[in-house]
Amino acid sequence: MRFACYPKTIDMALFLRSSAFSRVTALAAQRAVHGAFGWLHNNPKTLMDWQAELVAIPAPPFGEEARSKWLAARFTEAGLDDVRIDAIGNVLGFIPAANLPPESSGPVVMLSAHLDTVFPAHTPLNAVVTQVDGTSRLSAPGACDNAAGVVGMLAIVHALTQAKVKLKAPLLVMGNVGEEGEGDLRGVRHFYEQRAMAGRIAAHIVLDGAGADSVVTQALGSRRYQVTISGPGGHSFTDAGTPNPIAALAEALANLAHIQLPEQPRTTWNVGTIHGGTSVNSIPENATASIDFRSTAPDQLVRLEVALHRAAEDAVDHWNTVAENSLNTSRGAMTYTVEKIGDRPAALLPSDSPLLDALRAVDRHLGLRTDLRLGSTDANIPLSLGVPALSMGAGGEGGGAHTVAEWYSDKDRETGLRRVLLLTLAITEWASEQ
Ligand SMILES: [Zn+2]
Repeated sequence: MRFACYPKTIDMALFLRSSAFSRVTALAAQRAVHGAFGWLHNNPKTLMDWQAELVAIPAPPFGEEARSKWLAARFTEAGLDDVRIDAIGNVLGFIPAANLPPESSGPVVMLSAHLDTVFPAHTPLNAVVTQVDGTSRLSAPGACDNAAGVVGMLAIVHALTQAKVKLKAPLLVMGNVGEEGEGDLRGVRHFYEQRAMAGRIAAHIVLDGAGADSVVTQALGSRRYQVTISGPGGHSFTDAGTPNPIAALAEALANLAHIQLPEQPRTTWNVGTIHGGTSVNSIPENATASIDFRSTAPDQLVRLEVALHRAAEDAVDHWNTVAENSLNTSRGAMTYTVEKIGDRPAALLPSDSPLLDALRAVDRHLGLRTDLRLGSTDANIPLSLGVPALSMGAGGEGGGAHTVAEWYSDKDRETGLRRVLLLTLAITEWASEQ
């Protein structure tokens, strides 16, 4: 026991935190790390140029190929080893540790950012860069979420390689597909399911969006469903009395909206899309809605799944009975299906995690607030597997996420990137000692 000789009154957690702090201070004083900070300071225009280029490339869920190719070219330019695009479109690159042979199989730190956006393929992507009070502002769908994260990752890679910072453990970087919506974290999930490297990940830092304070360390669980009600359809007048899937779906959703949701554990629901029907004078054959339930508590998600099935079943039964009893003979009954289209596990970064210690030490060093949040991000997957992980902003400011009015400003981006850089270095140091 290394600490056995200390008096029993010492607060071990405090001791470990202050040791993390002195390590971060020592890291920040290294000449090469100064060089990396210098690169971040001197290249705001390069970063904004990359960001404007990136947002102009469409990346709807399941359509990220063009962005994958763009990022692979940037990784190669940066001099990364082993740059490749995997079977589902994740782009990977590698920076080896300074003093380890390439064939070593020890711990690796991962830095990732998602490439996809929520915007459908034909959304106009007019990127506009304006200068406001010495900062650049980029207006375009996806400017912040997640062009800021991808460009932040590129900035870290360039700063490390250009300044020849010696890493204690290898750094694996990944631009991944499928974070948003129905992508259902498929990029990061695929990485952890498929790759031999996955077993070596000692810690995983996800860059998502802007900011230099809040960090997501609690993975909010979510389950997503598509509920479809189908019937025989028909003519609005001559087939009147045939049960109507849109009316039944509307009733099911209205009933679901009345379910009481607890504030603690915070639990939410949303119906996000609804479609169906053929024309105003046709009884529809189908009606479909997509639904998102979120909670920090897995049992709430189960409860809501049951409630969804019940709401659909009750509405379908109700309108089938009405149709059976109508004067006109019904042309058949309705049925329903509930398909699960997303399942993100709930999980938590433990409060004594070395990754959290390192983050607090970095924030103390930079004079930043450590604001721990709850969210549904790529970090859900490693966290649910017990890999220390968090999702943080890549600096700057942003707004209008998931709307076509989205924007990003590089105001104080440098601070956010210094934070990512120091955290990456601190955690590679820790990983090398595992
Ligand atoms: Zn995002």
